[in-house]
Amino acid sequence: MCGLLCKLAAWARKKSPWIFHLPAGGLCNGCDIEIVAALTPRYDVERFGILLAPSPRHADILVVAGQVTKHTRERLLRVYQQVPEPKVVVAVGSCAISGNVFGTENYPLAGTVDQFIPVDVYVPGCPPKPEAIILGIVEAIKKLEEKTRKS
Ligand code: SF4
Repeated sequence: MCGLLCKLAAWARKKSPWIFHLPAGGLCNGCDIEIVAALTPRYDVERFGILLAPSPRHADILVVAGQVTKHTRERLLRVYQQVPEPKVVVAVGSCAISGNVFGTENYPLAGTVDQFIPVDVYVPGCPPKPEAIILGIVEAIKKLEEKTRKS
């Protein structure tokens, strides 16, 4: 049963989801640039209450771009554990989702994001446009609501 504080936290989460942006390592930075572009005043994501969190410990939504490398997989797992429950993960771009043109057997690469952490929303594209990334984050807010209701 959700008490008053729990209901207040659920409302705040829905109205003001904070995101943490993590480049997973194996990427050309095209997706990162589009994520950063999506957060500029041009797209005004603050109308949805979306803010970039300075630390994963303050975030509700983890946005990951790029394929995971052998060098970064431990960091991805650590950052995922640092985001408090309930949390949602958004994989942005074809590298994060399938490995894209780099494949999955390239020697420095460890695998796709969902091979290491559970992914809730996939935003395909190389790179996806800011509009698609914003749509993915809005979808993530709905998933976060569902998870908050169940927790
Ligand atoms: S999906 Fe395309 S734009 Fe995004 S990191 Fe991979 S190669 Fe770069």
